[in-house]
Amino acid sequence: MELIIDLHIHSHFSRACSKDMNIASLYRWGKIKGINIIGTGDFTHPLWFAEALEKLEPAEPGLFKLKDEYAREQDKTLPKNLQDKLIRFILTAEISNIYSKGGKVRKLHNLVVAPSFEVVSKINGQLDRIGNLKSDGRPILGLDSKKLLQIVLDASADALLIPAHIWTPWFAMFGSKSGFDSIEEAFEDLAPHIHAIETGLSSDPFMNWRLKALQKVTIISNSDAHSAPKLGREATVFDTKLDYFDIVAGIKTNDKRVVGTIEFYPQEGKYHYDGHRACGIRFKPSESKEHNLICPKCGKPLVLGVDYRVDQIADFPEDYKPENHKKVEYIIPLSEMLSEIFNVKSVNSTKVKAEYEKLYSTFGDEFSILRKISAREFSDKGFTKVAEAISNMRAGKIYVDPGFDGVFGIIKVFGNTIEKRQLTEDKITGQMGLGI
Ligand SMILES: [Zn+2]
Ligand SMILES: [Zn+2]
Ligand SMILES: [Zn+2]
Repeated sequence: MELIIDLHIHSHFSRACSKDMNIASLYRWGKIKGINIIGTGDFTHPLWFAEALEKLEPAEPGLFKLKDEYAREQDKTLPKNLQDKLIRFILTAEISNIYSKGGKVRKLHNLVVAPSFEVVSKINGQLDRIGNLKSDGRPILGLDSKKLLQIVLDASADALLIPAHIWTPWFAMFGSKSGFDSIEEAFEDLAPHIHAIETGLSSDPFMNWRLKALQKVTIISNSDAHSAPKLGREATVFDTKLDYFDIVAGIKTNDKRVVGTIEFYPQEGKYHYDGHRACGIRFKPSESKEHNLICPKCGKPLVLGVDYRVDQIADFPEDYKPENHKKVEYIIPLSEMLSEIFNVKSVNSTKVKAEYEKLYSTFGDEFSILRKISAREFSDKGFTKVAEAISNMRAGKIYVDPGFDGVFGIIKVFGNTIEKRQLTEDKITGQMGLGI
């Protein structure tokens, strides 16, 4: 069955995370978004682990469900058409590994995925000796990523370590600031146990396909959500049984069970292009090279974005597509398109929220709205502008204002509202749309 899975999220115990990141609201928002399986995130945190133990119960092999008493409470707040949707959980956590190797400081974020509370307890027991698991839902540990992988494998052969958002400059396996140039450099003889990598918001499969080393691993996408409405802004589509072990087997073999990923436009990520936020300088890689990677305003080195970094260690040209590659679907979050339609700045405005609710009450979850419902159905029910926006999104007729140095990029489906924002790229048409 088609399963949309989002493994990387954070609880309210992680820094800068919304209070609404609790198990019940993950369940509720999973239904609204149309995600089938959600990572619990933060299983290393003792209080979050306790909340998960209290509210979840085993369902299918390696999967968990919200206990009925809590589920019913949430379902009452949802329209009828979302109440029966299936939501399962997988136990996951993210670790921030900060250590030195080869004479350099390394900062990597790694996602850990586990099949049971017992395995989680084993992992937590080991990590608890190394650092403070209580201080943050995403603990910072002075632990080599390779050693973390060893701990994970020792706990269970069915657990996974997946390097997270591998291209972000500061905290990632291939990050320009404190990462490595290859999986082997980071994980040495354990490198064959790295079966998957996470694209992160700033990269897409096209960028990752350019590396020979990444042809062997499964490319997955997750939201890394810090608040419930951001769940599923990226996700991975599987065709598996409702079974943790079938999903993990799919990831390990990268076979037909992994259908593809649902992607944020990478230009919208905070580190796509190069630059300095404080200096108001944003360069594409060729411009950065012209400036010898130095900011013309302050004279300091530019923060190099993901686009530059990929190019630096890529083996293949930009348009390279491996044979048998997976499907890539680009989406723009529905509430972003609505805020463009209403010409309001915030996706949290009352108007946007009300329309969003009207849409999911009428047509079902957000992924169905973005991916399945025909434009005709929207216009037939009077949502003409939404029909137009979604058609543009699906055809890749979008306007792009790329992110840089921690500033989110802007993606628009109608050109008229973006002219003021000094576009650096022309309208992209066709090639990036749905179903590539
Ligand atoms: Zn991270
Ligand atoms: Zn994260
Ligand atoms: Zn500067």
